Amino acid sequence: MSIVLGAIADDFTGATDLANNLVRAGMRCIQTIGVPDHDLDADDVDAVVVALKSRSCPAEQAVNDSLSALAWLQAQGARQLFFKYCSTFDSTPAGNIGPVADALIDRLGASQTVMVPAFPINGRSVYQGHLFVDDRLLNDSGMQHHPLTPMRDADLVRVLARQTPHPVGLLAHATLAQGTEAAQARLAELQHEGIRHVICDTLDDNDLSVLAETLADLPLVTGGSGLGQTLPGVYRQRGWLAPVDDAGRLDAPDGAALVLSGSCSRATRGQVEHFLHGHEGFALDPLALAEGDAQIEEALVFARQRLSETTPVLIHASAPPERVEQAQQRLGAAQAGELVERAMVRLARELVGDGVGRLVVAGGETAGAVVSALGVTELRIGEQIDPGVPWTQTQVAGREAPLSLALKSGNFGGVDFFTRAFAVLGPGATS
Ligand code: ADP
Repeated sequence: MSIVLGAIADDFTGATDLANNLVRAGMRCIQTIGVPDHDLDADDVDAVVVALKSRSCPAEQAVNDSLSALAWLQAQGARQLFFKYCSTFDSTPAGNIGPVADALIDRLGASQTVMVPAFPINGRSVYQGHLFVDDRLLNDSGMQHHPLTPMRDADLVRVLARQTPHPVGLLAHATLAQGTEAAQARLAELQHEGIRHVICDTLDDNDLSVLAETLADLPLVTGGSGLGQTLPGVYRQRGWLAPVDDAGRLDAPDGAALVLSGSCSRATRGQVEHFLHGHEGFALDPLALAEGDAQIEEALVFARQRLSETTPVLIHASAPPERVEQAQQRLGAAQAGELVERAMVRLARELVGDGVGRLVVAGGETAGAVVSALGVTELRIGEQIDPGVPWTQTQVAGREAPLSLALKSGNFGGVDFFTRAFAVLGPGATS
């Protein structure tokens, strides 16, 4: 079976965000971590999102990785390609959005693509080519201070023009408001003028619907996960997608419930505190971890005594800024982080080996470390717990049943995330 949509995402959580929207709109979706070295072995898949780490690496590497992802997705029969980046257009003046889009266009033999970063329900909209975060222009939204990809200009036509030698144009809202035919006619006109990249205005979900109809036949679209809400509906209208009852259906969960949190974000700290009101937890401390493995052994004993299918256990290093700063001053920021990550990795490996089958990991970096330590390369996307965070399932060595895995980046999720996640997943497998 061939997939309908093949997406290339420039980071891991962005990939999940897109995959989550596709599932909610009715596509059965797999997220891969990097480019797989074998063909897809399931035939009940409509979309694959390949997660790369290509947002802020050198442009040449981003291009090479994206082209290998493209080749793999083409081999799986993808009808349309989607280059996914952040809804705040995170990029440096050197790229990587422009260079990657250019390379994909060239390889596909196409002559034009579109940029649709908007995600209106999350407050990201585009008007006259200018990106807004809620009621602020991008360069006044906090993004101007981003450590890796500071965004100091909200005019996306100008921003992208710095990243590509090709002309950049605008599909303005006034045209979009006239509907699909007018929008398609405008794209054709721009193409005739030699405009290769078209930034698309998008004010709301209705605009995303018009855009999906306008763009579904392009070989390549680019943008944020918002467009993932509306493209599947158009694919279905065209008969490209088999109707399925529940695109996010996973196997029945199986095994004990565990939360590992290495995130110190405000949202995660609130979630940890909320969880500890009714559940048990064990706190790791980088200063103790620096002394040897005794605290990891203690955490293992603590967890093993309590592991259960119905009541989750939490192990966390989440600490308020002053405690993090203290540890960082004593150990150095990199060393403090590494000690925590190393502990989380060992706990995940051993406890999954001991029968954990429902695992929530909080923290982007932490989740990355755990996933790679468990040898996870592929995730089937299930039901959403909170916006941007779905349950997933994967096969790991040493477990017959799939491991249910929820990977939450720091700022995501409501305050009761750690308990509600397990309620959403539902009861376990019974034989
Ligand atoms: P987030 O998604 O919230 O940014 P990450 O996991 O990406 O979370 O990053 C948090 C980083 O902080 C990780 O490298 C983790 O190891 C480190 N860390 C966690 N707890 C502490 C702590 N108590 N002191 C110092 N560093 C910590």
